[in-house]
Amino acid sequence: MEYRQLLLYFLGFLLVGCSSEIKESTKTKKEQNRPNILFVMTDDHSRHAISAYGSEIIETPNIDYLAENGVLFSNCAVTNSICGPSRAVALTGKYSHINGFKDNRSKFNGNQQTFPKLLQQVGYHTMMVGKWHLHSIPQGFDYWNVLIGQGQYYKPRMIEMGDTNDIEGYVTDVVTDISLKQLKNRDQNKPFCLMYHQKAPHRNWMPNVKHLDLYKNDTLPLPDNFYDDYKNRGSAAKEQDMEIKNMYMSFDMKLDPNTFVDSTETGTGGSKTWDAVYDWKYSYNQMSEEQKKEWDKHYQPISKAFYESSYSDSAFAEWKYQRYIKDYLRCIVSVDENLGRMIEYLKSTGEWDNTLVIYTSDQGFFLGEHGWYDKRFMYEESLITPFIMKLPNRDSSLVNSNLVMNLDFAPTILDYAGVDVPEDMQGKSLKPVLEGEGFNRKGQYYHYYEFPHGWHSVKKHYGVRTSAFKLIHYYDEVDEWEMFDLKKDPGEMNNIYGLEEYQIEQEELHSLLNELKSQYKDSIP
Ligand code: CA
Repeated sequence: MEYRQLLLYFLGFLLVGCSSEIKESTKTKKEQNRPNILFVMTDDHSRHAISAYGSEIIETPNIDYLAENGVLFSNCAVTNSICGPSRAVALTGKYSHINGFKDNRSKFNGNQQTFPKLLQQVGYHTMMVGKWHLHSIPQGFDYWNVLIGQGQYYKPRMIEMGDTNDIEGYVTDVVTDISLKQLKNRDQNKPFCLMYHQKAPHRNWMPNVKHLDLYKNDTLPLPDNFYDDYKNRGSAAKEQDMEIKNMYMSFDMKLDPNTFVDSTETGTGGSKTWDAVYDWKYSYNQMSEEQKKEWDKHYQPISKAFYESSYSDSAFAEWKYQRYIKDYLRCIVSVDENLGRMIEYLKSTGEWDNTLVIYTSDQGFFLGEHGWYDKRFMYEESLITPFIMKLPNRDSSLVNSNLVMNLDFAPTILDYAGVDVPEDMQGKSLKPVLEGEGFNRKGQYYHYYEFPHGWHSVKKHYGVRTSAFKLIHYYDEVDEWEMFDLKKDPGEMNNIYGLEEYQIEQEELHSLLNELKSQYKDSIP
């Protein structure tokens, strides 16, 4: 699996990376008025699995609490819907083609400007805990303790300031325990910026054993377009490799690893063959004997019932969907509970009011829409990410529908911290708009690169989304356009590109796309 490769990669950088750290800037003394920053990022968390966004399949009271006391953004797009690149954009406020991290094979150049470095320079105590996935040593942090690659759900291996440790416990709890300890032990004379970045709910969705009974006897509703046949779409939608019906019986469905007999489940990820069974057994064996006992008590009857039954194609796909969505949601329940611990801590120390809290995911995720899991596509489910901000010293309960982006995170944080936003950052601070000023982004520009070497086989594409339409160009292997009327067809089932009745809108979108490509200095080969 990816993380083994990344471990070697990462350790290599440990040996050579130290000399490349930038000279630490002179720190200023404490400035009382600067707010603390708690930047919460989860991995692959669809907004359709947050009750504040209207989800009816999960309750997320602590995330909702941020929305009830802050601002919920309903239209926040990412620039490139995949883990590493999205994190690089959040740190730099720059598109992938500018910050250099285009796909998960890339290595982040940590010598470049990031918002934590700028905060550190004005006296913030900066910390990074949890999922990092940028393949180089974190820079700009007074403390860092990061998972290797994707990280493990149980007994995760983490690198703390250069030292590697296997930590007993469940990853979402572990990341929170470390974060709380660092908050308590930090230099209390400085404002803090904590990157609290959870691995969950990334594949393969292993819940905390204490949450296994949630949803146990429920049947969760299928999305309307679960049985999408990809008619009226281009070849990218037809030829992807991310359908739930093809999920692995081992790694994804978690059939009992002690009795699972098919040892031939392999896939292609990156440029190599991936052994799903091996990785499933490895993940399972990370659990303690006690955890395994709880785990087996839940999953063994499911495995047994599966082997004793036969399924039609659709019943099999739906069985997989139920297995997938329940584990996914259970992982999020743990994320929400642990966020509650963070909120409680900040309240107990009196720091809550003067803290800017951001809740977001590195991108959205498909929860069975189009029959899919994963992300990558510029379609709504993966493009639009949850984004909620609890503002410092201001109570509000607002929904904001402006066309904001993850490109805006860094400028916004710097602005609230009272730091000048560097001119080369490509996003906008959202502070002015939240103080009543206008917002002038006409469209959200997107560019995805990871093909043909990437997982899930999604073709390269770029495009623009406005509040009413979306235009996408798939390029390199193909030369195909898709256009969607987001008001009439929010599920993006009918490509209207080339239709006579949309000629005016189509020309406007082409013109806007060219304008944005030029504005963001992107060029398509
Ligand atoms: Ca992700």
